[in-house]
Amino acid sequence: MLKGKVAIVTGGTRGIGFSTVQTFLDNGAKVALCGSRQETVDKALQKLKAVNPDYDAIGFATDLLDTKDVKKLIGDVVAKWGTLDILVNNAGIGNSTPLYDQVEGEFAKVIALNVQAVYNCTKEASEIMRQNHSGVILNTSSMVSLYGQPAGCGYPTSKFAVNGLTKSLARELAKDGIRVNAVAPGVIATDMVEALGEEMKARLAKTIPLGRFGEAQDIANAFLFLASDLASYVTGEILSVDGATMT
Ligand code: NAD
Repeated sequence: MLKGKVAIVTGGTRGIGFSTVQTFLDNGAKVALCGSRQETVDKALQKLKAVNPDYDAIGFATDLLDTKDVKKLIGDVVAKWGTLDILVNNAGIGNSTPLYDQVEGEFAKVIALNVQAVYNCTKEASEIMRQNHSGVILNTSSMVSLYGQPAGCGYPTSKFAVNGLTKSLARELAKDGIRVNAVAPGVIATDMVEALGEEMKARLAKTIPLGRFGEAQDIANAFLFLASDLASYVTGEILSVDGATMT
């Protein structure tokens, strides 16, 4: 479905991002995965090569909040593969601290990675896509981008902003052949959800009509569809993949 396409996936070292990287590779794409540390980037690349030594994958430890570093990332990918077709803005951090317990800087840290980094990568990638008059930008939103969550207000606030960027840029960049969509995952079994603890996980599981947590692959499949030409008339969409949790 993505034969010959060049993709960048941020937060590609584990969880939803890693599954997306592998799914894109399995569908013929060349993929650059990004993580925050070289060590985890190298580990993810090794894991991929162990599955299939022919995967066309490279990795970068990029500070997504440093615009020079982001420029270098996009430049390096274009230098290697000649273009950039797909950007998946997936790196993100959660937060569930009650407001009264939050320390200074906690809110800003979530907004920085979950919103500013999405903007930074999108801004740089869109320059290449504009020249090609073709491109796909995909963002990882969340089910909490609809109604918020009971604690850790920075996280849902950041995902409301991701939806805003998605819808606004879909309208603005359509004239340049660039589609912009987001996937809003429900509760997905990754390290982020593992960190919530057993009690919270049990409580959450009861709220899901499909009766199970989602798998990272469920989200990767949605990204694959949105990245592919099957979705050529889909833009500005926030696609819920949450087992009807928010329905
Ligand atoms: P995860 O914690 O397993 O992975 C997060 C990824 O982000 C990792 O690859 C990590 O390297 C990267 N990352 C973290 N801090 C970074 C930084 N400072 N700079 C660059 N990269 C950084 O989480 P996940 O569950 O796979 O989450 C991926 C995305 O999905 C996030 O945007 C998250 O908000 C969203 N999401 C997850 C769930 C869920 O239930 N797991 C639900 C809704 C949305």
